[in-house]
Amino acid sequence: MAFYIERSLVEYTLIYVSLRINWIDRPLNKSLFETGFEELKEKIFESIHIVEMLCEVCGKPISVKEKSRGTTRILDRNDYGRLLNKGAIHDRAEVDLEKRKIWFYDHDFPGDIHPECLEKL
Ligand SMILES: [Zn+2]
Repeated sequence: MAFYIERSLVEYTLIYVSLRINWIDRPLNKSLFETGFEELKEKIFESIHIVEMLCEVCGKPISVKEKSRGTTRILDRNDYGRLLNKGAIHDRAEVDLEKRKIWFYDHDFPGDIHPECLEKL
């Protein structure tokens, strides 16, 4: 009985630790479309374009291509409007207000297949 209690305490501790790690590692990203002008104004952001290469069979990512697209400065509502328009042409757009980064996500099917998906064919 004592052993059982001790063991579950250890398990709970592990769960607690892993929840905390997830919480710490959780990116502070927010959808660009949920970010107001007031939060972005008078700031300079680095734009990063991310293309997720998806498997032809399962549709899940095989690899990711990341490319910096320079910086974007938001001075007025016109800049903000241009940024939203830019975000709208991508799959999704996210902002990290602390790190001053904006990510634009897209996907591509380059004709690759996961080795494990190839085995299933
Ligand atoms: Zn696959």
